[in-house]
Amino acid sequence: MGEASPSLVTKESAKTIIRCVDKLAPNLRLADELEIGQVVRRMDEVISGNPSAKAAIDIALHDILAQRVKKPLFALFGGFRQITTDITISARMPADLSQDALNAVNNGFKALKIKAGFSFEEDIERIKAVRDRVGPKVALRIDANQGWKEKQILNSLKKLEVFDLEFIEQPVKAKDLKGLRKLRENTNIPIMADESVCSPEDALKIIKSEAVDLINIKLMKAGGLIKAKEIIEIAEQSKISCMMGCMCESNVGISAAAHLASALTNIKFADLDSDVLLKDKLVLEGGAELKDSQRIPPRGTGLGIARIDEQLLLNPIRKYSF
Ligand code: MG
Repeated sequence: MGEASPSLVTKESAKTIIRCVDKLAPNLRLADELEIGQVVRRMDEVISGNPSAKAAIDIALHDILAQRVKKPLFALFGGFRQITTDITISARMPADLSQDALNAVNNGFKALKIKAGFSFEEDIERIKAVRDRVGPKVALRIDANQGWKEKQILNSLKKLEVFDLEFIEQPVKAKDLKGLRKLRENTNIPIMADESVCSPEDALKIIKSEAVDLINIKLMKAGGLIKAKEIIEIAEQSKISCMMGCMCESNVGISAAAHLASALTNIKFADLDSDVLLKDKLVLEGGAELKDSQRIPPRGTGLGIARIDEQLLLNPIRKYSF
């Protein structure tokens, strides 16, 4: 089983994903789960871009391989540990935002990711409201979603430092590596790349530019587990820690990410919450659990998804045979 989650970041829609898988599937062979690395390269030769569609295939092949050897997927990556995930809070108004934040803390979350990137002054008000409400012990992370401009905030970063933030994610445009670097040099809050880093090539480039302290890795941006692992290893060699993040995956994609994150110790943070935020629950049995803010990958074989709600899979359902 695999999953693709469409997003603006990767310029994919449900339609483009289906078209891409239709094109890639005939290039797969029965024995491909034994040579996933080669399949990943072959997919890039057949079609460029489309990382989420490719991630779905990459995840499914890993699931098959791990089932064949009768191991949980994390064992193939070399380990197991539980990881603490944050939960994303995205209300716009300070009062709603701080109430949502408090509810999340009361539900056991120890780290909150606050969506920002509106006007800077407004963001400061919102962050202050949350910090005042949840107290000093809860970890706060800010995701500005490329919404700020370096010149506007360079001299105002000090205003954010009083809130004891764990990091700021993607404060400026993905391509603005100079801006990221400038901000990094002017604050003691760690700066994290999200949209700036999709591929291993992006990771090398941003590390060379000394533009960030941290990288947010998502299977849907990277094109699956193999490439995500490459990015995490490149970052590790450069002493850059990573967060395992997500787009809008159900528990299928989240489970794949949880397996990888639980095995690789250079993943220092996790933002694996999209399945919790989705109204519909695709996975009925199995999958990564969430207990007291801990993400626990399934210990069954393969990806560990036992049963899904097929009613939620709208047409067209495709079947490919090899
Ligand atoms: Mg982000």
